[in-house]
Amino acid sequence: MLRVNDIIQVLKSSRNPTDFWLLTSGLNLSRENAKRLKKAGLTGVLVSLDHHEESAHNDFRKTKDSFAWAHEAVRNAIEADILTGLTICPTREYVSSGNMERYMKLAKEWGVAFVQILEPKPVGHYKDKDVILRAKEVKILDDIFLTMNFRSYYADYPVISYHGYYQRRVGCLAGANRNVYVDTDGDLHACPFCQSKTGNALSDNFAASLQKVKENGCHTFKNATI
Ligand code: SF4
Repeated sequence: MLRVNDIIQVLKSSRNPTDFWLLTSGLNLSRENAKRLKKAGLTGVLVSLDHHEESAHNDFRKTKDSFAWAHEAVRNAIEADILTGLTICPTREYVSSGNMERYMKLAKEWGVAFVQILEPKPVGHYKDKDVILRAKEVKILDDIFLTMNFRSYYADYPVISYHGYYQRRVGCLAGANRNVYVDTDGDLHACPFCQSKTGNALSDNFAASLQKVKENGCHTFKNATI
């Protein structure tokens, strides 16, 4: 969002019907920028929020205004009629039914359409750290996913999108199955969390590179065969 003018340029030069999503901390997603992005054709916004408590989210982000940015961004995106969700990467310490319910309550109050749960992987800030969720945390997330998505009591809550739930059952749909990640150099990866450069979208044979991404798969889950 520090290069919002470039984003708008990309949106305007795209061919329909491409869906564009903005993944953001919320920084700089002002009311005016949200309106400009909508007008340029943005489909949706996913705002990262790591904790339902303001101070805990700010501490994690090491920025005292992070929570406020996220909230403001959500408000502005919804007001501009952009499909809006929150995304959380819950740590082992965070995962409990109480915390997840409080998070979902906040998401409902903020008015987002859905919440995406992404499990921590040892990449980026977590490189070489023991962050993979254990069976007990996965069980809590599975239960929350099923309860809050399918019990009528929670019908007016945002939908939960929890990729780990189906990845454990049918395999991963990234890795050039339904989805592939192309970084800013044009290099192909299975997804943003499974980074192993496998060919370049600009200089290599695209079909062959895609095939290689498929063959390499993911280090955590098998590729889906559907
Ligand atoms: S490739 Fe691996 S890390 Fe990436 S989405 Fe699939 S399962 Fe997750």
